[in-house]
Parts: sequence; C-alpha cells; structure tokens
Amino acid sequence: MQTIGSKELIREINEKLILKEIYLNKKIDRTSLIKNTGLSGGTITKIISCLIEKQLVKEIGEADSTGGRKPILLVLNKDYARIIGIKIGVGYIDFILTDLTGDVIFSQTIKYEGSISPQKVVSMITEFHAKFHDKHLLGISVAVSGIVNPNTGTVVNSFLLGWKDVELAQMIKKEVDTYIFVVNDVDSFSLSQLYNGNARFYKNSVVMTLGVGIGGSLIIDKKIHTADGGVGEIGHMSVVPNGNKCTCGSRGCLEAESSIAAIAARINKATTVAELKKIFSSVSNTEISELEFIRKAIDLDNKACKKVFKEFSVEIGIAMKNLINILAPDYFLLGGETLEFRDLFMKDAIEFAKKNAFGTLGTKVCIETDTLGRNAWTLGGIYKIIEVNLFENRI
Ligand SMILES: [Zn+2]
Repeated sequence: MQTIGSKELIREINEKLILKEIYLNKKIDRTSLIKNTGLSGGTITKIISCLIEKQLVKEIGEADSTGGRKPILLVLNKDYARIIGIKIGVGYIDFILTDLTGDVIFSQTIKYEGSISPQKVVSMITEFHAKFHDKHLLGISVAVSGIVNPNTGTVVNSFLLGWKDVELAQMIKKEVDTYIFVVNDVDSFSLSQLYNGNARFYKNSVVMTLGVGIGGSLIIDKKIHTADGGVGEIGHMSVVPNGNKCTCGSRGCLEAESSIAAIAARINKATTVAELKKIFSSVSNTEISELEFIRKAIDLDNKACKKVFKEFSVEIGIAMKNLINILAPDYFLLGGETLEFRDLFMKDAIEFAKKNAFGTLGTKVCIETDTLGRNAWTLGGIYKIIEVNLFENRI
C-alpha cells in the first residue's frame, strides 16, 4: 500500500533526477528532460515550477528550434549557494570558493612554514568562510594527504602533515555548521577527473600522482573506491629493500625513492657541477624548493638530470605495469607536480608499462596525463558536495 511518505520519497527522487540532468547538461529544455529522465510532462512541469520557486533553477533564453515555438532552457541558479574547497599541501593551503555549479569565484593560496596543526587549519577555514558568509553555504570540502575516512571525516594518519586520528569534520562543524566532506587529496583529484576529465568515459580507472608524495586512487564502476580510507597508497609499495627512509616509517617505499625530494637528492649525487651542489644545500635549508632546484639543475647539468630521470622513468614504468596487472584498468591517468618534467620521463615510463604489462592488458589500457591542473586537487571534493546535496539519493 502506498503511503504519503513514499509519495514524498518518489517526488524527492524525481526532483534529484531532474537536478542531476540540469547539472550534467549545464542547460536543457523541458522536452529533453522528459526524454532523458523518462518522467511525464506533467511531473516535469510540476517539479520545475517548484525548483524555480525555491530559486534553485532558472529559465534562460531560448534554444534553437527546428520549427514551432522555441523551447526555453533551464539552468541551475549559480548564485543559490556557495561551496568552499580546501587542499592542505606540504607548506601551503589552497582555498577555493565556487558557485553552485562548481565554477571558481575566488581562489587563494596561503603558505606556511614547518608543520601546521589541525586547530590552525580550522581557524583559517573559519576566517576564509567569514569573508564570504553573505550567501548560503552548501558545504566545505577538505582534501588531505594520507589515510582519510570520508565516512567519518577523520584523518586517520597523514604522515606528510604529522596528523593522527584527527576528527577534522567534527572540529570544522563546531565552527561552521554546514555539510563537511573530508577526503584524501588524490581521491579529490580523481573526483575531478570523474566529473570533468576523460575518466568519465571509462568504467575502471587508476589514477597515479607524482610529486612531493606519490599517491593513487582507484575508480571502479565510475565510483571512487575508498573503503574506510587507505585505498591506493601506492607510494608506499616497497621497491628497494632497505632503501631510503620513508615518511611512513618504512624503508624503500616508492615515495621515498621517487618523490620530488628523492629526485632532487639523486641529481645532487649525480652532478659534479659545484654551483649546483651549492644550490642544493639551500634546499635543505628550505630557502628554495626541490622543484626550483630541479628546474635549475636542468639548466646547469642537463646530462645528470637526463640520467636521473631515465632511472625514474623505469621505476614509474614498473609501478604502472604492476598496477595494470593487478587491476586491469580501462584508463590510467598520471598527474602531480612532477609532470612539469614530463618531457624527461613520461614517454619512456608509459612505453615500459605498456610493453611489459601482462598479455593484452598493456594494449587495452588508455594512458593519459592530467590536463585539469592544480585546482583539480581541490575541486573534486566540491563536485562531491554538489552531488550529495543536489542529486544523490540517500536511501
Ligand atoms: Zn612509505
């Protein structure tokens, strides 16, 4: 027997279905909505007028017509709400403010030295929010490196930040009462690829990021697989027995051997150019970053850099090959700061992975590099907030 409750539920499901279509198509007319959702014209008309009344949806202009009356287009009302996204990096925090559709309105990077406490981050978020409190806030997303449980909003362990069992979502919610989404930073990056990158065209994908850390993320059936956190920590695969000490406490992890810091140290070891060795000493005093050192090294001793990146290409190629063999993805995406030097290693790494993967797995997989850039690390969490609040059915 149908109850009033279930009628309301069906109405809510239909409303979310319509919002999702408008969001994904950016603008759409009523006839296409009927076609895409399978709902009746009457239902669409009723729900749309309700959404317009709530100011969630707006009518704009008219679409081109093939004859007869020109259809009116429907769009989300961008100004209905704001969303805040944060990415906590090593030495910097990226802040982004977007409208309801995820378009960036304002962005800011704040640098910090040494370590940063969760309390300090929460107070910075509160300050940032205070600047933009005039509009309704849909949520705040925080992307953090390490093992993050997105279901509880807990940073279980971030070795790069030195954080352990931090109830970050709860801490933020005490200051700003809104929907809080705490997510692993590579998962946030992958969510961007799922919404806005080519990963949306594939069912199963692996995302690998190369930079200060080496991270990974797994997309199965077009959904990020997180478990309770810790999925895709590929930077901590052992690659060298008794190798370099890693931030995680282990030795010889891929991250310890092939991160940006490790590449810089290896160039310093390989070079005989005195000026370069002198510049490297200022890296350990944190006067310049490892990235800046590598840029200078390419100018001053290109031969040594080529040698180091040649070795690096094999290490990354091996890691990619292993991941392809374990997961058989349709799509493999590489991202991260080290891509700045892609000309020195990328072609070789991809070739190694494709050639050495098991059977036909290497020919089947499409391997690409990131085109979305730095904001992708922060925007993924924002897209998730839009999904959860606007069109995810929580049943
Ligand atoms: Zn490690």
